[in-house]
Amino acid sequence: MTSSSNEFSRRAFIASILGAMAAEVAHAGKPLAGTGVRIGIVGAGVGGLTAARYLLELMPRANITVFESGRTYHSCFKSNEALGGLRPESDLRFGYENWARRVRWVQDTVTGIESGKVLTQRGTAHAFDRIVVATGVQFRYEEIEGLSAQNTLQAPHAWGGEAQFAALRSQLLAMPDNGLVVIAPPPGTYKCPPGPFERASLVAHFLRKHKPKAKLVIADANETFSKQPLFQQGWERLYGFGTPNSLIERISGNHGGKVVGIDAQSRRVKLGNGETLAADVCNLIPPQHAGAMLTRSGLANEGGWCPVDKATMASTLLKGVHVVGDVCDAATMPKSAFSASSQAKVCAFAIANELQGQPAPAPQYMNACFSLLEPGYAISIAHRYGFDKTGNRITQLSGGLTAQDASEEDLSREAQFSEDWFRTITRQLFGPADPLT
Ligand SMILES: Cc1cc2nc3c(=O)[nH]c(=O)nc-3n(C[C@H](O)[C@H](O)[C@H](O)COP(=O)(O)OP(=O)(O)OC[C@H]3O[C@@H](n4cnc5c(N)ncnc54)[C@H](O)[C@@H]3O)c2cc1C
Repeated sequence: MTSSSNEFSRRAFIASILGAMAAEVAHAGKPLAGTGVRIGIVGAGVGGLTAARYLLELMPRANITVFESGRTYHSCFKSNEALGGLRPESDLRFGYENWARRVRWVQDTVTGIESGKVLTQRGTAHAFDRIVVATGVQFRYEEIEGLSAQNTLQAPHAWGGEAQFAALRSQLLAMPDNGLVVIAPPPGTYKCPPGPFERASLVAHFLRKHKPKAKLVIADANETFSKQPLFQQGWERLYGFGTPNSLIERISGNHGGKVVGIDAQSRRVKLGNGETLAADVCNLIPPQHAGAMLTRSGLANEGGWCPVDKATMASTLLKGVHVVGDVCDAATMPKSAFSASSQAKVCAFAIANELQGQPAPAPQYMNACFSLLEPGYAISIAHRYGFDKTGNRITQLSGGLTAQDASEEDLSREAQFSEDWFRTITRQLFGPADPLT
């Protein structure tokens, strides 16, 4: 096959993934009553709300309770575009008002989960037949010398939450014209593997426009990164990457790029290779894990994530509890909103079938991650996944990356796909109830 016909079939593949997402046809089945069944959902982000939406549809008479600590949701997806000044921050903020009539809503922080029970900060214990956990990642600040939960806003990760986003955006606006921005991706598994590199692209776009003498260094703990040849090709075109005058420089893990310490007050960043960078803006993204609450509850293992039966997303450690989204170990799927939503659908069908005494349907998972390099220029990675019973594995069935020789038209179409995906998923999560068709 030629590369243009490859690109054509990939485009058709992404369109089919997005189409399936919009039309919800992938799993739609007959509604099951579920009278009196009590289901608790912990975390009202992508995984939690997708599970709630599907469970409501599949078991209209079930009693569903959602626990969420925040008053509103601040989206990470598309936050890089807002950081780079390409869209207003208000695009990232979503209210939960459309959920009030559909479920019992508990605005409280969950402090513990047991089989059949959710405990909250206000001291209440709630009993359930099934629990779905989707609390998103937590950060291991203490793994970087000089960094802590108390001083993180001086070197904001902006990898979740409104305060973090606001701190990084205001530091970018206030930095000197010839300043230095350091973006530091963490070692290990983290949410949105291409995210730091999309961020580097869009911060570079901002710098070129507003701080033309500034530089950006990616101090990377890892040797390679997601969609690397495509990102680097874009940076070569846009910023002369690889030349002495490049706006973007990357120090990889094998060249000591890992950040090992910081003086948060002065923003001096110590690298593994012994070098110290005097940053004006330091976007230090700490290592991530499922967090202390899930470890204490016996849901996360020593690897830091929650192991699950990958056919149903049921915890392998705690009976009656399912785990979806960033906190579960669903390798080989990346931690992304698309993955979280796909896992939540599999989970909802497995719960509904199990409660009706039926076997869970064969799972099908999907992921597509788009990264914008500048307005009208996006790249993507997309895969369909199946389940291999031997070894409880999620396996890639088909998919791929944007072609290295994609035309301007292809790249601009990817940017439009990315926007369409964002509008669809946020409408499904936060818009008025919209039956699955
Ligand atoms: C910069 C950036 C860009 C990204 N871009 C993309 C993209 O383009 N495409 C994509 O697919 N993904 C993207 N992602 C990844 C995506 O944001 C996450 O993978 C996704 O949000 C995971 O969903 P989740 O449901 O697991 O967690 P979240 O969406 O983080 O939701 C977790 C929810 O649980 C709540 N919660 C946590 N603890 C408790 C508790 N103890 N009690 C009660 N409530 C609690 C939180 O307040 C939150 O509302 C990006 C991430 C970043 C950082």
